[in-house]
Amino acid sequence: MFAEIIIDQDAKALDRVFEYIIPDYLNLSVGMRVYIPFGKRIMQGYVIKIKDNCNYDRSKLKEIISKIEDFSAIKKEMLELMQFMAEKNHLKLASILRLFLPAEMREGKVKELFKTFYSLVNGAEIKLSKAAKKQEEIVNLLSGGRVAAVELAEKYGYAPLKALREKGYIKKEVEEVKRSPFVILNGDKRVELNDCQKKAIETIIEDKTYLLHGVTGSGKTEIYMNLIERTLENGKNAIMLVPEISLTPQIMSNFKGRFGEAVALLHSGLSAGERFDEWKRLFSGEAKIAIGARSAIFAPLENLGMIIIDEEHESSYISESNPRYDTHDVAEFRARYNSCPLVLGSATPSIENYQRAVDGEIQLIELPVRANGKAMPPVQIVDMMEELRRGNSGIFSNQLIADLYNVVSNKKQAMIFINRRGFSSFMKCKECGYIAKCSDCDVSLVYHKEDNRLKCHYCGKQYKYLARCPSCHSEHVKYGAVGTQQIVAKLQELFPNVKILRMDNDTTSTKNAHQKILNEFKVTKPSILVGTQMIAKGHDFEDVILVGIVDADQSLYQSDYRSTEKTFQLITQVAGRAGRSVNDGKVVLQTYSPRHYVYKFASNYDYKGFYRKEINIRQTAQFPPYSRILRILFSDFDENHVRELLKMCYTDIEKLRQVYKSDIIYLDAMKSPIKRIQDKYRYQIMARFKLENADKIEKEIFDIVDRTTKNSVFFEINPQNLS
Ligand code: ADP
Ligand code: ZN
Ligand code: ZN
Repeated sequence: MFAEIIIDQDAKALDRVFEYIIPDYLNLSVGMRVYIPFGKRIMQGYVIKIKDNCNYDRSKLKEIISKIEDFSAIKKEMLELMQFMAEKNHLKLASILRLFLPAEMREGKVKELFKTFYSLVNGAEIKLSKAAKKQEEIVNLLSGGRVAAVELAEKYGYAPLKALREKGYIKKEVEEVKRSPFVILNGDKRVELNDCQKKAIETIIEDKTYLLHGVTGSGKTEIYMNLIERTLENGKNAIMLVPEISLTPQIMSNFKGRFGEAVALLHSGLSAGERFDEWKRLFSGEAKIAIGARSAIFAPLENLGMIIIDEEHESSYISESNPRYDTHDVAEFRARYNSCPLVLGSATPSIENYQRAVDGEIQLIELPVRANGKAMPPVQIVDMMEELRRGNSGIFSNQLIADLYNVVSNKKQAMIFINRRGFSSFMKCKECGYIAKCSDCDVSLVYHKEDNRLKCHYCGKQYKYLARCPSCHSEHVKYGAVGTQQIVAKLQELFPNVKILRMDNDTTSTKNAHQKILNEFKVTKPSILVGTQMIAKGHDFEDVILVGIVDADQSLYQSDYRSTEKTFQLITQVAGRAGRSVNDGKVVLQTYSPRHYVYKFASNYDYKGFYRKEINIRQTAQFPPYSRILRILFSDFDENHVRELLKMCYTDIEKLRQVYKSDIIYLDAMKSPIKRIQDKYRYQIMARFKLENADKIEKEIFDIVDRTTKNSVFFEINPQNLS
């Protein structure tokens, strides 16, 4: 017998199927991982097919050495998914297979955790001398059931345990224990579903895609839980994706409260051991619900009955590191493979998916009101230019300060949202205009007040504080712009006796930090939580009566066709945090462009109005969903090499213009906006073409690039981030 094998190496030369002989004694199945000889080395590989004949000269084939595990780590569905992703995103096979396993398993670092217990030997007649006090206590303890060996040893020492064991009174047992992620349980609070929720649940049964458009607080989570409950009753499994780890504590609490051990959590915030154990619980079928960020879509669950993507519009569902893929495509594939519903939930669906719903390609379900019947909080737009004219050049408008006083005097809570992190962004010389940049990445450094250092947000490299300009030696250097730390400092000045909490990348880098901050916020009143994107969604605090958006414009002026859409989404999400229960809420939105259409629609919670305006602009300007953007990214340590590659590819790609004259809207080669990341030079080809022949053109471009090289080239389809 022969096996077709993919070698676990991310290299172009190895990106194909290799044939090996299966030795008779090896009981091999498809999907198993094996050790194989390759050249002079031993490598790891995945068995993707077993067959009677080989295509290659048999005398030249080598034998598989051994199995890595005794089970098929890659299931049949995942092998088909691999083919799908390879074609769709033009990825190397091994790089896809790696997504399907916890890295710890591939690297062989993490092993199961075993624990030893003692228990009484059944039917043993126990006779102890009066002096053996400790032994007697141990026997009494064990008569109530087994006890962990460490616990006994700590309390009584090893000698009495050894004595009892030698007499045959007690026995040792070793058992695997699962490390499970820390979760605070909310209990299972069930609510009476309203008519909108009931209707949604009844509708979502078919093997197709649904867009659940529900305003913030409309009770989507309750719908998800009911859908999953029904799925389990039907003997099937479910996957639910959430965009960020910061969201999972609350969702996890709710789901664990209802489904207990059936829930497994998969995200990057877990320790290696926890992730490995959660993965195994799903793999073995012990856990039936996978909840997590993007990578949970690869959960090793069979027999899926429901896939849910919460906050489907979030950009974190698109992988921007290698391998690059869109989670929506993978979810769609798995839903169709398992013939189950795929639910896309959002208060602000992506323009692309809303258009699919308008066109009838997917089914729209609407939840127009909040579950508790409360109106959405009013949004007051504050013109910061006007504020400046009146002599207020501070971070906060007079309106926001007045509203904060109201919060504090009523012992309530407020959230202040900001788009950036860090104390102040750039170090700039006032004399010569020098800006401090990272020597490896060609991006501006960010000043961090906490440790008085400049840091690069791309590679993490740190630099000393600069008191003088390195270029002209002037002492007139400025550390400008506003960040979370500065806002916290300002608020503390205004409200010295009020608890001001901060949540951003810097304060949440340690394990469970999100949860700790949120828990503290929850019990402290009055209090103000200052944060970045992380506080924008999911959280549900009864006493938050004010939300302040300090710099709404931040996300508006980026060189990205989606920046208006992103701004609308952000405002809606942030505003949704206010006045969620008995208390009335309010939102104060500070902007320097108060007449921009995005603020008009966002302040009226008019998604449909915004959609109509935006889709028209996209059509006129020929941006997605009316076109497709392809970015081909070239990156390497050697700049000449990258430029050479770029040039070779571009010369051939340019010839496509003659064939697809009217299809190609834009095509050009250039430096990437960020010229270097982690010491690698970056160049790119940007292409935009009409949809009609998009697949065909894409395929031709893939072929052209493949002929040149496949290493150090990456493809991104409708990328979220163009840096
Ligand atoms: P969404 O995810 O749509 O923003 P949530 O699922 O977080 O909304 O629900 C908002 C709040 O409404 C939660 O506190 C939830 O417990 C509550 N809720 C949900 N459904 C109902 C219902 N049918 N009746 C009363 N309260 C509900
Ligand atoms: Zn850097
Ligand atoms: Zn200078």
